[in-house]
This record gives sequence, structure tokens and C-alpha cells, in this order.
Amino acid sequence: MIVLKFGGTSVGRPERLKKVAELVLATPGKKIVVLSALSGTTNALVSIGDNLMAGNIDKAESEIASLEKHYHAYIKDLFTGEASHAIGEEIVSRYFILMRLLAAGQFDDKSYRELLAQGELISTELFYQYLQERKISSRLLPALHFMSIDENEEPELEKISGRLKPLVDSMNTIEILITQGYICRNHRNEIDNLKRGGSDYTASLIGAAVHAEEVQIWTDIDGMHNNDPRIVKKTFPISQLTFDEASELAYFGAKILHPSTIVPAQKYNIPVRLKNTMDEKAPGTLITEKGTQGSFKAIAAKDNITAIKIKSSRMLMAYGFLRRVFEVFEHHKTPIDMIATSEVAVSLTIDNQAHLPSIETELKKFGSIEVDKDQTIICIVGNRIMDKEGVLTEIFKSLASIPVRMVSCGGSANNVSVLIDKQYKEKALNALNEGLFALK
Ligand code: ASP
Ligand code: MG
Repeated sequence: MIVLKFGGTSVGRPERLKKVAELVLATPGKKIVVLSALSGTTNALVSIGDNLMAGNIDKAESEIASLEKHYHAYIKDLFTGEASHAIGEEIVSRYFILMRLLAAGQFDDKSYRELLAQGELISTELFYQYLQERKISSRLLPALHFMSIDENEEPELEKISGRLKPLVDSMNTIEILITQGYICRNHRNEIDNLKRGGSDYTASLIGAAVHAEEVQIWTDIDGMHNNDPRIVKKTFPISQLTFDEASELAYFGAKILHPSTIVPAQKYNIPVRLKNTMDEKAPGTLITEKGTQGSFKAIAAKDNITAIKIKSSRMLMAYGFLRRVFEVFEHHKTPIDMIATSEVAVSLTIDNQAHLPSIETELKKFGSIEVDKDQTIICIVGNRIMDKEGVLTEIFKSLASIPVRMVSCGGSANNVSVLIDKQYKEKALNALNEGLFALK
């Protein structure tokens, strides 16, 4: 069994969805196809939901109308025959009737999440219908029947597997099973989702649940790159990464993959392959358990970081000080990313600033506080790079002309992170590209 996931841009236009069908057909054996909503749809649904929540009914209605128009135009080019076209019309109309019913009712958080789910429900049904028109045998596998999260919003992998396996087995003669990314049920059995970009996560959860041979994530870029192609001129796709390397990169801003995707794949040792729908011959990136050691693999950056320095003479030779500092962040449900300590001060970074004012107030009890906003973490990743001699020299030689606010290394053997002011980001990424990869 292979799991193939196609993102929003891969299904965003009728000709692209047809290409998806070709790619699926070209993959031998049994497969589960996970689809996102058409690109732009989830954003539109979020906006409709926000407007309904705020009581801007007219605005929401006009957004629903323009989204519906988009889908009617889409199916015009998707189906060839009249009969299929009529079915396509029926599918689109049905979903939009439902959306209008949701909008007209008591619109609350629950209806909001139900609204968000419509994007993946439509895209998968249209794809199924397109395969029907082409007389390609397939089945729809409703994600809302097997994907679930618990009260902490964590996917219930064992339960998912327990529901999904018999479903898949019951369709033994069918080679193509189609399901929705992103959507699930929560512990109250309501419709919910795995957060934005969550279709990748769906794919790896399914891969783990059915012990797939491989999970393929098809996007519009030819794999993970060694550096940010939007900022640095010359980058290249990395052919092979370990799970550890990929999870560091996914978290530190390599937007190509939802950060949680690696977790189930790594746990059950299921290879994840990143592929490009626009260029299926390109090798992409293969993520597996083992990999080459000791060389730099990639550089990633994460913006909007806030650094907080707490200076306190009470810290000198005291124990329990860090625990009390960390408790402040725990209490505000704010994760800490980097941390550096001296005898009388500790610096740390957060990326969620929602509770910053009250965190500051509480921290002031310990000593003096300095807060620097608009910082960027630059993360340099490579399997066991820290075991190699001269690694830090190479990194800091490249960064020689850039003020570094914090350094973190040794936390894992696979990464070195530095914190700089955002204004130096472009310069730093380019300097490291040249210094570590000889790319100019
Ligand atoms: N459609 C959802 C989103 O745009 C999920 C996904 O595409 O991964 O966030
Ligand atoms: Mg995505």
C-alpha cells in the first residue's frame, strides 16, 4: 500500500486534477489518495466563517456566491460528457446548499469547523466523479469515519488504525481509495480538523495506520531545498534526509511539510517521499530512518521570534531558578524554542507572543527583563554534524560580519541554531549558503 497526498495547488485547477489522476494511475499497486481542498478554498472558508462569526452576513453571502462560481467554472473544464457534467453540477450545488444552511443557522464554533471541512469533501468527491467518468474504478473513503483526535487534539493513531484497516480490507478489489486530508472528528464526535496544512499529517497518519510501504507528499516544489529559495538565489533539492533532520527543518520554517508529519512516519519507520506534481521525473526528497552522516544538509529560518533575557543575581549558584522561570511559560501555554544561560542571566526565545505582556509581568519578579522582538532563528541541520570537527568554525566564519544574539548547539547532534535580528536574515542565509555549500 502506498499513500499519495496531493496539496491544494496540485488539485487547484481542472487540468492539474487530471494530472493527479495520471500520477495515481502510474503508481502500481494499491494506494490511498489523500487530497487537500482546491488552493484558495480553505482561506475562503476561513474568511466566510470569520464574517459569519462577526455577524457580517452580507459579506459572507457574497463570498459564498463567488466561491460557488469558482467551482461551477472548475467542473466545466473537468468533465467531458454531459451526464458527468450534470453530476458535477449536482455535487457543487449540494455542498453550497449545505454551506448556506450552515450560514443561516446559529453559527458557532462547531458550525465554523464544519464549514472548514467542506473544501476537502468537495475536492475528493469531484476527483472520484472524474475517475468515474473515465471508467477508472475507485472508492471514496470518508475520513470522518476513521480520523479522530482526542481531547488534547492529538490524533488517536491506534483507534484510527482499528477503524481504517477493516475498511481498507473490505475494499480488497479496488486499487484506488480516495480520502480527505485535514478533516477529522474530535472527542465530542464533532467535525474538526488537524489545523492548517494538516493534509500532510493525515497522509502520514494513514501511512502509519495501515503500515504503508511509503507515504508520498506531492506538492509544487521538487523536494526540500538546502536553503530558502525565496531568499537565496542558488539552492538545490536535497535527495535524502533522515527523519530527525526533516523534523528539525519542518519545524524551522521549511514550509513544504507540516511539522507533525514526520512523527507517525518515524514511529512506524515509513519512508516519506516529497515529490513535485509539475515535474514528476525530478527525484524529490526521500526521508528515511538512516542517512549519510556528518555533512551539512540544509539551512532554515524562522521569523517573528521574540527573545527574552532575565537577569538576576538570585540565579547565581541557586537551584530551582530555571524551573520557576519555565513555570511562567508553562502557565501561559507558551513553548520555548531556544535557551542559553550564563551564571546570572538566562535568555530564551518564544514564537507565540499572545501572552507576552503577562509573561513579562511575572518574570519581572525574578529580576530585570529585556525583550527583543523581530528576531530570526537560523537553523543549520545535518545528520550528526556536531560529531564533526570544525563545524562551529565553519558556521561562524560564514557569519563573521553578523551580530549573533544567541547560539544553541549540543541539544541534538543534528543541529546548530543561531538567533539574529531579522534585518540580517538575508545576509546570513546567503553567507551560510556560500560558506557551507559553496553556492553564490
Ligand atoms: N486545506 C487545508 C489548508 O489549506 C489543509 C491542507 O491543505 O493541508 O490548510
Ligand atoms: Mg501544504
